[in-house]
Amino acid sequence: MPERNRQIVLKRRPNGMPVPEDFAIAEGALPEPGEGEAVLRGIYLSLDPYMRGRISGVRSYARPTELGEVIEGRVVGQVVRSRDPALREGDYAAGGYGWQLYSAVPAGGLQKLDPAEAPISTALGVLGMPGMTAYIGLRDIGQPKAGETVVVAAASGAVGAVAGQLAKRAGARVVGIAGGREKCRYVAEELGFDAAIDHRGDLGPALDRACPQGIDVYFENVGGAVQQAVFPRLNDFARMVMCGMIAEYNDTSPRPGPNLGAVIRKRLRIQGFIVSDQRQSFGEFRAAVAPLVRAGQLKYREDIVEGLEQAPEAFIGLLQGRNFGKLLVRLADDPTR
Ligand code: NDP
Repeated sequence: MPERNRQIVLKRRPNGMPVPEDFAIAEGALPEPGEGEAVLRGIYLSLDPYMRGRISGVRSYARPTELGEVIEGRVVGQVVRSRDPALREGDYAAGGYGWQLYSAVPAGGLQKLDPAEAPISTALGVLGMPGMTAYIGLRDIGQPKAGETVVVAAASGAVGAVAGQLAKRAGARVVGIAGGREKCRYVAEELGFDAAIDHRGDLGPALDRACPQGIDVYFENVGGAVQQAVFPRLNDFARMVMCGMIAEYNDTSPRPGPNLGAVIRKRLRIQGFIVSDQRQSFGEFRAAVAPLVRAGQLKYREDIVEGLEQAPEAFIGLLQGRNFGKLLVRLADDPTR
């Protein structure tokens, strides 16, 4: 064991793309395990896109890393000392303790690993957080069905590779988007996607060729130009799994238009609908609302213009906000009023 621990800490918040000077190496004493803790010697450190958000200092779904603090990250390692009966020296475990060689962590926060079950590194990838991200995104949002077309961004990456293969297992036609010829070859030939598109080429026409039936599920990992190309090609009732927008993580000023990154950070639900799809709910609606109207508990206002010939002018007024309440044209006397 070395004499000292080493850590990478945040020296400065990056402006745009991070540079090495934003980070610093710190040395310290080897950590001592407290009661119920174990000291883990890191073997693998996971580097993930979310870390860009943590070091930016912008308030998000998680606390930002403070200046001087160890950069956050998950590690697979081996227990070198333990003061908890659940972990013994030599055990392998995964835990989130950051960019450092050693850490003393509560044993309860560690996931014990069995190297006979799977290579221990997979606890940080295909069998860890990224793999689960793909699984949950498809299970809860994408819900691909046999015969549908699924497009996966960053398809050769940790999340995208799992998402595409799971969608394929669900019987979908799966198209991956990746950067460069070698990644595309891997996605199509080794991962078994039906097609792979290089986003450095002309993405729109390539998507048209690869998705002749349009796109039913888009697993969004990238944002930016890829999102712009995919969005107009979504079919009716398509599902967009808003997972990540890595192409925009180093932006220094907001792009024009609403930024869908908020959909991820705030877990927003944005869903379009057309009321006529729900005709069968008309009776339910009337039963719920008509009594409220009758009892004066649901107020309404009508803006009634007189005569059919007023219709064009009134309609134009509607588009300019001149109506006040539900705009109606009285075509004839109402004998009930
Ligand atoms: P990857 O292993 O996919 O690595 C990132 C990849 O993103 C790069 O290899 C690159 O692939 C692609 N990329 C980077 N910049 C650009 C760009 N400007 N335009 C297009 N592609 C780009 O990372 P992960 O699988 O770990 O993460 C994928 C996404 O999932 C990220 O956006 C991440 O933030 C998100 N995520 C979200 C989670 C959630 O809970 N919502 C959890 C985990 C991850 P290529 O060369 O093919 O373009």
